[in-house]
Amino acid sequence: MTALTLHESLTAARERLARALADAGRPAGDARLLAVSKTKPAAMIRAAWQLGQRDFGENYVQEALDKQAELADLDDIVWHFIGPLQSNKTRAVAEHFAWVHSLDREKIAVRLNDQRPVALGPLNVCLQVNVSGEATKAGVDLEALGPLAEAVASLPNLRLRGLMAIPAPAEALAEQRQPFARLHEALQELRQRLPSAPLDTLSMGMTADLEAAVLEGATLVRLGTAIFGARSQR
Ligand SMILES: *Cc1c(COP(=O)(O)O)cnc(C)c1O
Repeated sequence: MTALTLHESLTAARERLARALADAGRPAGDARLLAVSKTKPAAMIRAAWQLGQRDFGENYVQEALDKQAELADLDDIVWHFIGPLQSNKTRAVAEHFAWVHSLDREKIAVRLNDQRPVALGPLNVCLQVNVSGEATKAGVDLEALGPLAEAVASLPNLRLRGLMAIPAPAEALAEQRQPFARLHEALQELRQRLPSAPLDTLSMGMTADLEAAVLEGATLVRLGTAIFGARSQR
């Protein structure tokens, strides 16, 4: 992808998000764009940064660390870890990311909390919820969400910001909206349960279902293909 094409696709993605917010009757700027850069080279991330993008999402720890090393001069870049997280990778994530969206187990939360360097301030986390049941094995079930959220909220080096989901693919807008609505409802329940937690984030919506997610209250939409083009096989 050339710099010119990236400029066009990033502009189009920003316009798409702005239009979705307007159509949902929400204020401009009410949801933020997270650029999902997995499998894309560091040079492309730098080009997007030069166009004003600051939040980037990565799925694979080693790939992310390599790119972060190349981009170490971009001091206001914000790295989000959005992929599956195994115990043996928690230290690298705790030390090199500002956000984790894919937290779904207390054991991983405790490790991240223990390994987070205090000087970096608390690690922002979203709990990944399995809203569609069969779609993916990742994510905590809705019934287990409350207890997990309570455990995470008690960890001083983590800041519980909200919820994330990757629903099963669906074609129709009405069908796409249902799991996002469930996630929004789950967030509202958590706000009752944990009134002092800073629960301001709904991480939902990707290239195929951004509009549905924004209609249901997304505050952080994770766009890969729409910004960087199709991914090559890893
Ligand atoms: C890859 C990925 C995205 C981006 O998906 P697109 O369909 O390319 O926009 C968003 N969220 C997660 C968790 C991903 O793994």
